Amino acid sequence: MSAKVCQRCSGKNDVTEFNIGDEKHRLCIDCRSKFLIKAEMGRPPIGITRKISLTLAQEDWDWLDKGNRSKTIRTLVHNERLSDERKGGL
Ligand SMILES: [Zn+2]
Repeated sequence: MSAKVCQRCSGKNDVTEFNIGDEKHRLCIDCRSKFLIKAEMGRPPIGITRKISLTLAQEDWDWLDKGNRSKTIRTLVHNERLSDERKGGL
């Protein structure tokens, strides 16, 4: 049985075969870590998009629209959850 060879660099250092979807990969440990980092960065954000109606004063909208609305609201939710969790909830 011949040693497995990395499909990218032809290295033989801890080469492992694995599938991602229908794609078969055969990578050494170095290429595997590079590949995983790349996969991590390319991963689409996990979340559910819902439309909401929100009533705010004009000045609040002005403030919100100075930045990225979605990002600001996401941050507010996260901060609120954190402070909730600190109050003794889970
Ligand atoms: Zn390799």
